[in-house]
Amino acid sequence: MRGVRKAYNPGTPIETEVLHGIDLTVVQGEFCAVVGPSGSGKSTLLNIVGLLDRPTAGTLEVCGEQTTRLDDRALTRLRGHSIGFVFQYHHLITAFTALENVMMPMLGAAEFANEAMRVRALALIASVGLTAWQDNLAGNLSGGQQQRVAIARALAMGPALLLADEPTGNLDTRSADEVFTLLRQFNTERGTTVLFVTHNVALAERCDKTIEVIDGRLTG
Ligand code: ADP
Repeated sequence: MRGVRKAYNPGTPIETEVLHGIDLTVVQGEFCAVVGPSGSGKSTLLNIVGLLDRPTAGTLEVCGEQTTRLDDRALTRLRGHSIGFVFQYHHLITAFTALENVMMPMLGAAEFANEAMRVRALALIASVGLTAWQDNLAGNLSGGQQQRVAIARALAMGPALLLADEPTGNLDTRSADEVFTLLRQFNTERGTTVLFVTHNVALAERCDKTIEVIDGRLTG
């Protein structure tokens, strides 16, 4: 990111700039904590990196692609293939099984035929330790298990970049630790770059580096 600014409601009387010129480089394979007070702009930053929202000014390169001039279709494609998301709330489809939820991002992707999709989802479910629960409805799983399904789903397309916005925020200490350890494991084994928003100081200390956002600016 170079000089990234973000204003909500630009050009209106309620225009508010919440990111004020962010310069940030994250190297492939880095596991970064994103910390800072509530309202400082962490989610806005993640949404821009994740191509869910566009900056008002500045440039952004994601996985080697300059994104500024890409149209919405190209952004959606880049996002679908390169970026995985895990949020504080799991956003699983609770009436579908754990396995079905993990298969969801692969539906319609040309590279996965039905059987390949199922085999891949089974491997992902196994990698998050949920094989015994794969046919349970997502709505019947514990909070920690649901978050593990969400991680498996986020990794379905083999993204180079995983964006995790307070994924452990709703979890008890032990489940939070398990979820963090899983993210760390994927980072180490697959080289997945991770941006991990957290208020948990102990977990932030276990990351490779810390990005601190205060009032829409990076410190340090
Ligand atoms: P954090 O993730 O650090 O809590 P956010 O990025 O969610 O911070 O919010 C940064 C600021 O932007 C806050 O003042 C918030 O109220 C404001 N904001 C976030 N989303 C919107 C929006 N869609 N419209 C207007 N203001 C917003």
